[in-house]
Amino acid sequence: MKREDTIEIRWHGRGGQGAVTSAELTALSAIHENKFAQAFPSFGPERRGAPVLAFNRISAEHAIRVRSSVIKPDIVVVLDPGLVTLINVVDGLKPGGWLIVNSTRSIDDLQSEFSGDWKLAVVDASSIARELLRVNIVNTTMLGALIKTTGVIKIDSLKEQLEVKFGARAKANLEACRKAFDTTVISSITTGGQKKVRTFAVENLAKWSELPVGCVVTDVGNTKQFCTGDWKAQHPVWNDSKCIKCGICSLFCPEFCISQQKDGYFRANEFYCKGCGICAQECWTQSITMVEEA
Ligand code: SF4
Ligand code: SF4
Repeated sequence: MKREDTIEIRWHGRGGQGAVTSAELTALSAIHENKFAQAFPSFGPERRGAPVLAFNRISAEHAIRVRSSVIKPDIVVVLDPGLVTLINVVDGLKPGGWLIVNSTRSIDDLQSEFSGDWKLAVVDASSIARELLRVNIVNTTMLGALIKTTGVIKIDSLKEQLEVKFGARAKANLEACRKAFDTTVISSITTGGQKKVRTFAVENLAKWSELPVGCVVTDVGNTKQFCTGDWKAQHPVWNDSKCIKCGICSLFCPEFCISQQKDGYFRANEFYCKGCGICAQECWTQSITMVEEA
C-alpha cells in the first residue's frame, strides 16, 4: 500500500515526446537528493504519436514497494496539448493536486474545461522547445513547469542528470527548463465547467462477413476509440496523374482506411490514417508521397 508521504506523478504524452525521459529524469533527480523514487512507463501501441503514460513515485522518507500504475496521482503533467480533449487526463487526480499542461491556450480558457478542486499550471512548452532546442520535444521543458509548481525536485539536481543524459545538449535543455520555470502561469480551478472529453461506447461487434469492403468501420466495435489519425506524423498525398486505379494501396493499408472515390481515384480517411507509409511503399506507380504533418 502507498504511504502518505509518497508523491505520485502521472505523465501524459505521445510516443516521441519524451514522457518516459521526463519521468526518468525526475526520479534520478529525486534519488540525487537522497529520496526514494521510481519511474516507469506504460505503453499502448508502441509507435511515434500514440498516447503514452509514464509514472513517478517519490518519497523523502521510505523505500517504495508499490509497483503498480499510478491511478490516483498527486500531479498530472500533460506534454501534448491535444490530449486534453482526447483523454480524461484528470482521472483520479487527488483534490488539491496539480494539473500541469503544455498549451498555447490561456489559463482562463483552459480551466473552463475542468471541474474539480485542483491547481492548474499552463506553459507554452512547445514554443520554448522549438525556440531553444529546435525541436518540439518538450520533456525537459515541462520539467521546468513541474519544478516551479510543485518543487518535487530541485533544478540543481536536474542539472546534473541533464549533463549525464544529454552531454553537450544539456545546456540548451537546461535553458528550456529555466524558461518554462519563469513563464509557467498558475491558477486554481474553482468554478470549472464540464470537461469536454470524447466518450466512446464499445458496442457489439458485427460479423466479419457483414462488414463492407474497403472501409473504416465506425459504427460498431471500438475503432472509434483508436482514432489513429491523430497519431500521425505524416500523411499520404496522391498524384492522380500517375494513378492507374489498381486499388493495391487500399488492399495493403493496415487501417483499411483507403477507399475509392466516385472518380475512381483513391484517398485515405485522415481520421484513421496513422501515417505508416505502407500505401506509398506498395504503390507501384509511385503515385503516393508521404508528407510531414504541419
Ligand atoms: S499511410 Fe497509407 S497505408 Fe498507412 S494508414 Fe495511412 S493510408 Fe493506410
Ligand atoms: S496503388 Fe498506386 S496506382 Fe494503384 S490505386 Fe493506389 S495510388 Fe493508384
